[in-house]
Amino acid sequence: MPTPARVAVVPKEKGLLSIVEVVLPDPLPHEVVIKQFSSGVCHSQLHQIHNPRETPVVLGHESTGVVIAKGSHVSHVKEGDSVMVTWVPRNKADNPQPTRPATLKLPDGTTAVSQNVFTWADKTIADEQYVVRIPDDTAKDVTSVIACAVITGAGAVLYTAGVKKGESVAVFGVGGGGTLRNCRSEGGGRRPDYRRGSG
Ligand SMILES: [Zn+2]
Repeated sequence: MPTPARVAVVPKEKGLLSIVEVVLPDPLPHEVVIKQFSSGVCHSQLHQIHNPRETPVVLGHESTGVVIAKGSHVSHVKEGDSVMVTWVPRNKADNPQPTRPATLKLPDGTTAVSQNVFTWADKTIADEQYVVRIPDDTAKDVTSVIACAVITGAGAVLYTAGVKKGESVAVFGVGGGGTLRNCRSEGGGRRPDYRRGSG
């Protein structure tokens, strides 16, 4: 059944974000419809807002929520499951199905595009590759940042920089990702020293 939703839309021309009432279509075989608990706000969206564009754009790439509908070929989640929506494909390497970035038909007849998913909305529709099952008792208010900030911050510390416990590090920017990198460094026994910045 098509699902009414409220979505933040960046207009094609330079201008303010607006909240638009839309109707999400029934999910295609590899799509999932999610009622969201919360969404993160990432610096990447600021770049999207400032970049020139050919169409309206829908934003956001990290959230948590509950599945309210799924396509016929989706088997890793079902209605009622708690999930995370993320911009990182679940298992793209093993998946022969092309991953579809979400698009959204707007009431004025135009189509808004996303880079992969959109989560600045009360409900969203996403390719199953961007939907990950999470425990049902996961906190609803703060966990949306796991889907970008945590994995970006943890990945930078653990895999890119290869930081070891007890080492001192300099972190440039204390937005979502930077703050989490600092939390990791605090685990090494030192208090983080926050300086002005973003990222
Ligand atoms: Zn992000």
